[in-house]
Amino acid sequence: MGEPGSRLVVLGSCGAWPEPGRSCAGFLLAHNGFRVVLDLGYGAAPRLFAHCPDGLPDAVVVTHEHPDHCADVSALGRAWHYTVQTGAPSARLPLHCTPGTVRRLEAMEPRPHPETLFDVRDLGEPAEIGPFRLTPYPLPHHQPNFGVRLTAPGLTVAYTGDTGPSPALAELGRDADLFICDATLRTRRRRESPAT
Ligand SMILES: [Zn+2]
Repeated sequence: MGEPGSRLVVLGSCGAWPEPGRSCAGFLLAHNGFRVVLDLGYGAAPRLFAHCPDGLPDAVVVTHEHPDHCADVSALGRAWHYTVQTGAPSARLPLHCTPGTVRRLEAMEPRPHPETLFDVRDLGEPAEIGPFRLTPYPLPHHQPNFGVRLTAPGLTVAYTGDTGPSPALAELGRDADLFICDATLRTRRRRESPAT
């Protein structure tokens, strides 16, 4: 990390719950030294820290508020507070997410409040993240949920959290260099549950 070029590290790939030796959704995308995290579910933070030995990431994107996609953002916030903010109290880590994600992080740890740790941006709005242009795509799920398309010169990466079927998926992944798709439940469940 920190070097020119692009690299994707899979921090976790479990859906819904972590398994022995495997974490829930988390991806670390590095491009010309800029590091953005895509989701950080159960168990993904230690793997993130293992791949960021020289520091913490530059930005975080969370697709939706289910804990298998955001639980370890709380752990990242604590690491940020006790390392970076110790020397720079006003420093905040950019976090692109839904309002419900912030409420979940606040419920886990209200002090310090997530908005004092993170510079919270509305994931529903296009944004500039370091070298990337982020374009959100609303996708069907039990909670507000966005696929994201990150485009930098010479690189396009598209990513979904879990989602129901949608024509927007074709647009999200069109001509991308890499399209990462969450696929948890391969068969329809007999009874609808508040899934992942
Ligand atoms: Zn979910």
